[in-house]
Amino acid sequence: MAASLRTPTGTPNLIKQLVRFDTVSRNSNLALIEFVADYLSGYGIQSELIKDKTGTKADLTATIGPSDIGGLMLAGHTDVVPVDDQDWSTDPFKVTEQDGCLYGRGTCDMKGFIAAVLALIPEIDASRLRRPIHLGLTYDEETGCFGGQALARHLKNWDVRPQWCVVGEPTSMAVVNGHKGKISVDCHVHGVEGHSAYIDKGVNAVEIGAEIISRLRVVQKRLKAEGLGNDKFDPSFTTIHTGKIQGGIARNIIPRDCRFEFEIRNLPGQDPSVLLDEVRSYIADTLLPEMQAVDPSCDVDIQIQSNIPALAPEDGSRLLTLALQMTGTNAAQCISFATEAGLYQEIGIPTIVCGPGSIAQAHRPDEFVALNQIMRCTTFLREIIAAQDRL
Ligand SMILES: [Zn+2]
Repeated sequence: MAASLRTPTGTPNLIKQLVRFDTVSRNSNLALIEFVADYLSGYGIQSELIKDKTGTKADLTATIGPSDIGGLMLAGHTDVVPVDDQDWSTDPFKVTEQDGCLYGRGTCDMKGFIAAVLALIPEIDASRLRRPIHLGLTYDEETGCFGGQALARHLKNWDVRPQWCVVGEPTSMAVVNGHKGKISVDCHVHGVEGHSAYIDKGVNAVEIGAEIISRLRVVQKRLKAEGLGNDKFDPSFTTIHTGKIQGGIARNIIPRDCRFEFEIRNLPGQDPSVLLDEVRSYIADTLLPEMQAVDPSCDVDIQIQSNIPALAPEDGSRLLTLALQMTGTNAAQCISFATEAGLYQEIGIPTIVCGPGSIAQAHRPDEFVALNQIMRCTTFLREIIAAQDRL
């Protein structure tokens, strides 16, 4: 397969077709998955669907070429973030082309990559491939990489697993070999309601919540001050952040409930559960005795909503060397946002992140991908597929 700068004419059309499916994570992605399965079957490629327990969402895997040897997995998520309350100048689910850019929800994150992969299928002669190309499409990445976790569990059972993987998240086609992990946590403080004139008869859930959040800040400041950072990341340290809080009814009522959501974005090699345990111990040793002295039913619930492993840089891997050659860059980068790449590395598949479009365009109104990014992605994919066949 000769590398060229030509973008298959099908790519923009495929992007348009994929964007038309409203695959915001709260919705089913089945219509899109079935569209892809039909498309692949048109080229004699069989897909396997891995449904979630509701039956309304599915991952898709397909192998093109031999199945007795591992090959390159091209992976991406099919869900997109919502457009609610965003001020779009065009219909987010209908691609608009302007000045060499395609506008629409998911064009950048990350239906552009999926379309670029699908558009190459007609060029590939499966009978001549020495090493296979695997497709791995997932659901619910944006809400916690749940489809990626299901795919990783599925791949673990394959006799021959993919040998390596490219996750096509938007990196402006830079090669990324490290990212932070992310643990998302919901916290619910159960206090005791009462008249605010008699504060020692109640347990103020909002104030307890504030103490826990303050403790998270103490840990955060220590992590920063310890300087155990990694300069490849920005910021260079593990971060802790509270993003949402809710509690109380009125100034003169002791609030019974306080709920808040926080996250820990950990550097590779720093275990976020150790940090979480530290906060749990503080709650158990310092806050609960005080709360339960008033009423034994008081409690603090901590629920891990999702846990995405970091991607640890593997310098000098064959995949990385190839990818750097193909993109004409000297060094790989690290990113601070989490992707599904860490999940595949965790099951022994060397993985990098490299895809068209900028993360700066993702999740925003008027999200777009530039056609020249799609073209660079197409070239990269053609070359890396050809290169793995020469190995
Ligand atoms: Zn994404």
